[in-house]
Amino acid sequence: MTSYKELGLVNTREMFAKAVAGGYAIPAFNFNTLEQMQAIIQAAVETKSPVIMQVSKGARNYANGTILRYMAQGAVEYAKELGCENPQIVLHLDHGDTFELCKDCIDNGFSSVMIDGSSLPYEENIALTKKVVEYAHKYDVTVEAELGVLAGVEDEVASEVSHYTKPEEVVDFSTRSGCDSLAISIGTSHGAYKFTPEQCTRDPKTGRLVPPPLAFDILHEIEKKLPGFPIVLHGSSSVPQDEVDTINAHGGKLPDAVGIPEEQLREASKSAVCKINIDSDSRLAMTAAIRKHFDEKPGDFDPRQYLKPARESMKKMYIHKIVEVLGSNNKL
Ligand SMILES: [Zn+2]
Repeated sequence: MTSYKELGLVNTREMFAKAVAGGYAIPAFNFNTLEQMQAIIQAAVETKSPVIMQVSKGARNYANGTILRYMAQGAVEYAKELGCENPQIVLHLDHGDTFELCKDCIDNGFSSVMIDGSSLPYEENIALTKKVVEYAHKYDVTVEAELGVLAGVEDEVASEVSHYTKPEEVVDFSTRSGCDSLAISIGTSHGAYKFTPEQCTRDPKTGRLVPPPLAFDILHEIEKKLPGFPIVLHGSSSVPQDEVDTINAHGGKLPDAVGIPEEQLREASKSAVCKINIDSDSRLAMTAAIRKHFDEKPGDFDPRQYLKPARESMKKMYIHKIVEVLGSNNKL
């Protein structure tokens, strides 16, 4: 058993309470590689932001769970080395699908876990979440649950259609499951293709897809029923069109990739939404930088030559999200 406290990590309880009260949201960035981790920590330190580093089941399969845990421990030390005296870094399991996986993470240094029972019948979702909460709370680990189903594809999580969270269920669900935060479905979606062209309108000037707006009425109803309770938004990448254009201009093929407009995320951050998940935007920033590099310098073959601009580009994106969208800067 390794407690996250020994690694210098923190759980989400205090940072969520501050974020809800302060009208901002904590960035939750997924990571699989060293360069993503470095970029996340550099961005968080430079902006003085708390940060959630999250690991999906797919990331554990790709990079190995043990390595990722030591990388998170390294992230804390790296943040201190960069001059941050008191880093607030969470290591979070994204979309845990079984009690066993959550337990394994809790036993191995994670400070927060998500148990995603959203595809189960309501009562089974409560029962599974409660089981994880009872175990997690023994070790002061916080638990995110999910109610409602998001559309899109993210690692092994996939659903063709979304089902908005039903506001009438949130009080019963959170009370009986004991979860610390709740991921809801109000129209965000996983991946770089969040909406089909049929779900969107097209901007006549640019020809780009304009996605349907988030269901703020549902969010506000949930806020009224659960005052001050931490709400989480998954699938909240914006799929920046300049990155998509760079990818497509340098041999890529991402037609009609579309995300959530940043104005809407900015608005959500001011509400009880206190954790916003961003994964695809990091993938796009990295891929765009690497494609551009290879196109311009076809003779390069040292990974450092193309991973360095990729890391810089991700860092710039993370800083932009923290300062311009979530408002979590200067909160340490
Ligand atoms: Zn998700």
